[in-house]
Amino acid sequence: MQYRTFGSGQSGKNQRKVSVLGFGCMRLPTDNGKMDGVINEKEAARIVRYGIDRGINYIDTAKVYLGGQCEAVLGRILQDGYREKVSIATKLPTWEIGSVKDADRIFSEQLRDLKTDKIDMYLIHNLQRSFHDILLKNKLADWAWKKKEKGFIDYVGFSFHDDFHYLKEVVDSFDRWEFCQLQYNYAGENAQAGTKGVTFAAEKNLSLVIMEPLLGGALATPTGKMGRLFASKEGKKFQPADLALRWLWNRKEVTVVLSGMSGFDQVKQNIDSAEKGLAGGLTEEETAFVKQLQQAYDESMPIKCTKCEYCKKDCPAGVDIPLNFDYYNNHMASAEINQQKKAEVFLAPILYKAMKPEQRADRCADCGNCETLCPQHLPIRKLLADVHRVLNG
Ligand code: SF4
Ligand code: SF4
Repeated sequence: MQYRTFGSGQSGKNQRKVSVLGFGCMRLPTDNGKMDGVINEKEAARIVRYGIDRGINYIDTAKVYLGGQCEAVLGRILQDGYREKVSIATKLPTWEIGSVKDADRIFSEQLRDLKTDKIDMYLIHNLQRSFHDILLKNKLADWAWKKKEKGFIDYVGFSFHDDFHYLKEVVDSFDRWEFCQLQYNYAGENAQAGTKGVTFAAEKNLSLVIMEPLLGGALATPTGKMGRLFASKEGKKFQPADLALRWLWNRKEVTVVLSGMSGFDQVKQNIDSAEKGLAGGLTEEETAFVKQLQQAYDESMPIKCTKCEYCKKDCPAGVDIPLNFDYYNNHMASAEINQQKKAEVFLAPILYKAMKPEQRADRCADCGNCETLCPQHLPIRKLLADVHRVLNG
């Protein structure tokens, strides 16, 4: 395992070594294999503890992950001496805060559920323009800093889903942020705050945690033109997830890369990659191959959905938006590269038609709730209409 320094901050004090690979707990294994299932605690414990035994010491969770089960399960998993071996990162659900009393209550619940008396890294969750008033009105950064002064938090930061301009606004709104968590991966180099955001965070001496390094798993099992590139003579030398992770560690600005791992093999493979997770570690050949992949990605995945599922929270119709998008993306990608294999091409429409009626794109009632919650700012209603037109045709 490689380690980097966290908390290089303005003062240079309060530093610690963290593993370049962080265990993201957003996708812990569940009984139905989906994020609305019940966590399979035995298997989750097996993979998290295996990761820690192999050197992972940064564990990321949030109040809202896996329907709110995640922190309590993690608290139990980290018993038997594991808590002392790791830094826990968790987050305040910004959108649920009406006053600092809410923040205090949630924070106490988090300490209780995680069975700890201190949160190592505490983040204001999912900052985006629509939550800016909540951040400022409740002075959430000051609130977190006071918790730090009382010894309940080691580092204060935020996770972020918006554009570069808003990132600057957030950073400038408080002069003591110590770290931030950004979405970044080679396919979406310019998505959200993008490379400019990564560079800016480093200039501001913020430790940088990366989320969605594999774009919701899409970069681990690429389809379309990207899949074809990996299947080529040149591409067979590379393993998709390994290349995506090492592309991130190649940048010295990156401190931790979170991988939302749900199976033992994933953990093992990601740790094997992290052994080689060096800044400047990518070869010229690998860098050139990634450039080809970036171009192919832009062409093959029409909807850049990360499957975070935030949009599902307030849908009055019960539309399973990410599932609709997943079928559509796979359909478009397979149709592009597997024109001879008709069965594969036509699988997505079959799956679409087999969905529960209320989950399908055509049940959208056009209220717009989902679009205000989508961190990718996708025009969901228009895209759902496209999905229905193509897959129901
Ligand atoms: S716009 Fe459609 S999909 Fe989005 S929340 Fe409203 S009903 Fe659901
Ligand atoms: S549509 Fe947006 S909010 Fe919904 S899962 Fe995809 S990225 Fe997340």
